[in-house]
Amino acid sequence: MAPMAEPVAAAPAPPHFVIVPLPAQGHTIPMADLARLLAERGARASLVVTPVNAARLRGVAGLAARAKLRLEIVEVPFPADSGLPPGVENVDQITDYGHFLPFFLALKELAGPLEAYLRAQAVRPSCVISDWSNSWTAGVARRVGIPRLFFHGPSCFYSLCDINAATHGLQQQDDTERYLVPGMPVRVEVTMGTRPGFLNSAGFEALKDAAMEAMRTADGAVVNTFTDLEDEFIACYEVALGKPVWTLGPFCLCNRDDDAMASRGNKLGIDQSAVTAWLDAMDTDSVIYVNFGSLARKVPKYLYEVGHGLEDSGKPFVWVVKESEVSTPEVQEWLSALEARAAGRGLVVRGWAPQLAILSHRAVGGFVTHCGWNSLLESVAHGVPVVTWPHFSDQFLNERLAVDVLGVGVPIGVTAPVLLFGDEAMRFGRADVARAVSALMDGGEEADERRRRAKVYGEKARRAMEKGGSSYESLTQLIQSFTLQGGKQH
Ligand code: UDP
Repeated sequence: MAPMAEPVAAAPAPPHFVIVPLPAQGHTIPMADLARLLAERGARASLVVTPVNAARLRGVAGLAARAKLRLEIVEVPFPADSGLPPGVENVDQITDYGHFLPFFLALKELAGPLEAYLRAQAVRPSCVISDWSNSWTAGVARRVGIPRLFFHGPSCFYSLCDINAATHGLQQQDDTERYLVPGMPVRVEVTMGTRPGFLNSAGFEALKDAAMEAMRTADGAVVNTFTDLEDEFIACYEVALGKPVWTLGPFCLCNRDDDAMASRGNKLGIDQSAVTAWLDAMDTDSVIYVNFGSLARKVPKYLYEVGHGLEDSGKPFVWVVKESEVSTPEVQEWLSALEARAAGRGLVVRGWAPQLAILSHRAVGGFVTHCGWNSLLESVAHGVPVVTWPHFSDQFLNERLAVDVLGVGVPIGVTAPVLLFGDEAMRFGRADVARAVSALMDGGEEADERRRRAKVYGEKARRAMEKGGSSYESLTQLIQSFTLQGGKQH
């Protein structure tokens, strides 16, 4: 007689994470990486985005499909009556300061389509992970009965400064214009211009209040960082927030090959193989890479100062100039002349660059960065020290982390924020660029120590993402905590 079959326990259903990025490159790129990380570990990940942003994620979706990962792009329409020019669906497309508020208000209208998507699933999704700014997802998740985590883009160092300043206020230092951020494990001073806090502009008060409230009511936070980089700040942030902080980064390290690196963010302004071939001809750690992220723009006179500074530094360079900065025939002519003078030594990329492919190339030995958290972390994750050149928002505090705490950065020396669309009154010149680049690249005791530290962090970043590493195991726990027997029906 055949033995009686043991009853088979139903396999736990893989959890389904619904990810709602803020449509800005510095937010969507890491959240797309997060989706990939979740899907690689067996979860289902759905990225909810509008058509322009869905088109930019086509490469990510294609790679995931080829790898048979459960990563899908859920397209929802951008609100038609937003008052914005047609087709503007991402912060990097905004060209008028007056369009920021209508843009953020329009995003709130995505609550309906998001709720419809969540309710349409046969099995209720396990968790919504939404950008800190997308406070409108709080009501949706509550109504549908789904836990919600918020993803906060910057470092825990920054977020701790932010929450401490919001809770306790800043302490003015005598009668100077400097303020101490209270409750930090290290001394952190700011000015009114460099103080922490997002959505600080006039007119954004209600949006900011809603974001702070959505932060308070969330079930936890997801941050793109790792324990060995800022363990003290992570621990303090978790206490200050009073809820779990899942540190799962550096997310960028999920992009392991050229195709994945070239698919991030936008259509490349240069063929990736051309950049790689150019870098292949250079000595190890000899090239300085210069890129100010997806948003910051420079007016021509300052663009010229950057270019002359790089030329004067005498170092090989890859310099990324935005299409919006190459605004006139004069600028184009000037850039072509610079390229001719620096032929063989300088490569100018017009438009979107394959940043990860560049940073991971052995020839790149330094990065002049605006200290957007993604750029800074991508540099650290690849063991590349930085010249720190913050422009606005969290970048000034990220600079403090890189320079004062991690010891991997040389400051260019700016102390005040500048306007997003280019500023006529920036306080730097070509000599500052040449000096900072030389300090980073020329060698000597301090430069060697900075490079050594960057390489140690790069190695620790790699280990954090491997089986047994802090971020890998944190992701395991996150997935397990949302893995339900069979999933819940509506
Ligand atoms: N990025 C890129 N190519 C570019 C410019 C930016 O791949 O030419 C990516 C970069 O790798 C990073 C993101 O865009 O992942 C920029 O985010 P960050 O937080 O550094 O700065 P932001 O653009 O938000 O100011």
